[in-house]
Amino acid sequence: RIIQYKTIMVSSSFQRKDTDVQIYGNVEIPAEAIHLAQYQAHGIGLLRSEFMILQMERFPRFEEQLAFYQSILEKCNYLPTTVRTVDIGSDKVASFLHMEHEDNPAMGRRGIRYSLSRPEEFATHLRAILSLAQWTDLRVMFPMVTIPDEVIRARALTEQVLAELRRENPALPASVPIGIMVETPASAMSIGAFVKYIDFISVGTNDLTQYVMASDRTSKGVGHLCNPYHPPILRVLHHIAQTAKKFNIPVNICGETASDIFYLPILHGMGYRSFSVRTPSIPEVRVVLSDLDPARSEHLATRVMESWNVEQVTEQCVEFIQDIL
Ligand code: PEP
Ligand code: MG
Repeated sequence: RIIQYKTIMVSSSFQRKDTDVQIYGNVEIPAEAIHLAQYQAHGIGLLRSEFMILQMERFPRFEEQLAFYQSILEKCNYLPTTVRTVDIGSDKVASFLHMEHEDNPAMGRRGIRYSLSRPEEFATHLRAILSLAQWTDLRVMFPMVTIPDEVIRARALTEQVLAELRRENPALPASVPIGIMVETPASAMSIGAFVKYIDFISVGTNDLTQYVMASDRTSKGVGHLCNPYHPPILRVLHHIAQTAKKFNIPVNICGETASDIFYLPILHGMGYRSFSVRTPSIPEVRVVLSDLDPARSEHLATRVMESWNVEQVTEQCVEFIQDIL
C-alpha cells in the first residue's frame, strides 16, 4: 500500500499547492538543480558548497568556485538559494587540504571551525558565494556552529567581503541574510544566544542525531543508535521548534528526516513548515505535507514524544501514514 501510495503521489504532485508549507531542495551538483524548477520548489534550501571543492586536486580559485555555483543557479532558473559555506573536515576531506591528523575528527576542526582557521581561503570562498547575490535572492549559512563567537567572527568577515565586493559592483545588495545550521547539541540548546547575530536557522538532523546519540553517522556498527527515531532526538527537535517560535526566528529543516515521508508528520506536528529535501523526493514530500491535518500531526508529535523507545516511535509513524492512505 505504501508503494502504491508513493507511485500515485509522485505522478500527481508536481503542482505546487496553496499551503503554508515551503519546500526547497538540497543540491550538490548542477544536475540536481534542474529538477527544482520542474518540481516547482521554492528554491535551494541547502547548497552543499564543499562538494565541488572536494572533487578537485587543489583548492579551487575564486573564478572556479563562482563558475560552479553559478552553473547550479542557472540550472534552477535562479530560484532563491541558501548556500552553506564549506563543511570540510570529519568525513569530508581531501589530501590537498593538508589537514592535521585528529584522532576524533567528527569532534574536531570541521565546518565553521575549519573555515575560521583559514581566513584567507574563507574570504575567497565567501567572495565567490556573495557574488551570487547579483543574480539571485541569496542567503548564507554556516555549518557545525557551536558557540556565538563563531558566528560573530564569520559574520564580520562576510560583511567585510560583501562591502569590498560592493565597491566593485554597486548592484550587489547591502546585506544578505545570514543563518546557522543547528546541528550540534550546543547550538540546539542555546538558540537564544545566537538570535542577535542571525536571520534564520536550518536544522541538520543528520549531524544532530550523530552528536545527540554519540554515534558516528558513518559507522555501520552503531547504525542502530544513529537513528533520528530515537525519542531524545524528538525532544531536541521539539525544543528547537518551540525556541525558534519564541524568538520569532525563521526555521528550516534540511537533514534527511525532512525527506522521510514517515518522519514528516512528526516535524509538521511540531510546527516545522519549511523543508529542504533530496530533490527526487520533492513530489512525494509535497503530497504528504498537503495531506496532513495540523491537529492530527500535532497529536502524533505529542504521542511520539511521550514514547521511550525507538520501536514505539517507528510503529506510530508507520501507522499514521497507513491511516492517511
Ligand atoms: C545535516 O547534518 O543534517 C546536514 C544537512 O548536513 P550534512 O548532511 O551535509 O552534514
Ligand atoms: Mg551536517
